[in-house]
Amino acid sequence: MNFAKSAPIPAKLTSDMELKHRNTFGLDAIAEFAYDITSAEQLPALLKTLTEKKMAWRVLGGGSNALLPAQLPGATLLMNILGQEIVVVDGDGDGDSDSDSDSDSSNNGKHTLLAVGAGVNWHALVAWTLKHNLPGLENLALIPGTVGAAPIQNIGAYGVEVGQYIDSIDAFDTIDHVFVTLSQTACQFGYRDSLFKQHPDRFILTRVIFKIPEHWQARTHYAELAQQFSDPNSLPTAQQIFDAVCRIRCKKLPDPKVIGNAGSFFQNPLVTEDQHASLISQYPNLVSYPDKAGMRKLAAGWLIDQCGFKGQRVGAVGVYENQALVLVNHGGASAEDILNFAKSIQLKVHQQYGVQLAIEPNIF
Ligand SMILES: Cc1cc2nc3c(=O)[nH]c(=O)nc-3n(C[C@H](O)[C@H](O)[C@H](O)COP(=O)(O)OP(=O)(O)OC[C@H]3O[C@@H](n4cnc5c(N)ncnc54)[C@H](O)[C@@H]3O)c2cc1C
Repeated sequence: MNFAKSAPIPAKLTSDMELKHRNTFGLDAIAEFAYDITSAEQLPALLKTLTEKKMAWRVLGGGSNALLPAQLPGATLLMNILGQEIVVVDGDGDGDSDSDSDSDSSNNGKHTLLAVGAGVNWHALVAWTLKHNLPGLENLALIPGTVGAAPIQNIGAYGVEVGQYIDSIDAFDTIDHVFVTLSQTACQFGYRDSLFKQHPDRFILTRVIFKIPEHWQARTHYAELAQQFSDPNSLPTAQQIFDAVCRIRCKKLPDPKVIGNAGSFFQNPLVTEDQHASLISQYPNLVSYPDKAGMRKLAAGWLIDQCGFKGQRVGAVGVYENQALVLVNHGGASAEDILNFAKSIQLKVHQQYGVQLAIEPNIF
């Protein structure tokens, strides 16, 4: 892995770089100055220069949770730090006194620590862990994007969130201009949330250290997965869960290579039990899930579907016909077109259900 301490080669600079193929919405976007970040050591000098020049900058991973404008003035840092290595095998006990006591990964058993560069492709990493007999991340298969972006919104799917498997994160703190290592607790993971989401642009994540417990348990409680493994006498392997997740996702979600999208466009809104009780008395079919104490999570897709948006299209923007939570670019849409359509959905859902939908992708 290239985390060498010797003088770094400066990040390669490309002017007026086309980013259409580095955002899954397929939006036309030009980065004025694109920097190819291949090593953490390139960041201090680059950030010093950008600060001195008072130049705008932003970080881009795979662009799968991003709404890019047509022009990105200033610097765009393309996170391409590669490499992965097992740093501790058979680590004993919890090892991190900061870890959340209820997380799957802190069950006081043996574990493996795996350090992965921020630019590594997420799905490729999940496949790699299974090949190296390190199961745990399989429910998160086929989520697009990079390892360095995964903690930003604490990616989650089928009952698992990445934060459960993170030991610590190496990052460059762009305010104090120092490298920091943040423990799992310091990262403040929540539903589609983290310290990094709360403090955008402060930390540039360079390396994620995963903690994979030796003790593995299948998580197939989510309805779609449970249906695939209904025989109680035959327990699925991690590889079978990985394959099932890939199958389900391919059926349900549009492939960004075929039709531009950023996955779920809205977060599932949290409401109090009282709000939920009032809603369900009016809408008995309301879809919701229990959440943290006193709260319930509503299925945003159901709300949007009930408002009649599924499959609808306005110009080049539409709601995916098989999944109302996904907005798609039929070709030629701009970020503004997508946001305008999103606003009309938010308005209708609010008028009908009194619930505010929050946009999930990052608006650049
Ligand atoms: C078809 C599809 C399905 C999806 N399914 C899911 C799903 O099931 N669950 C889920 O949670 N998400 C899902 N997503 C959303 C997306 O894949 C994830 O959020 C992913 O982690 C984004 O990675 P990225 O590298 O593309 O990030 P980008 O889109 O490039 O960036 C996202 C944000 O992270 C910041 N960022 C990126 N890298 C770094 C870094 N190294 N340091 C600091 N900041 C950084 C960016 O500035 C930006 O604010 C889906 C997207 C698509 C297109």
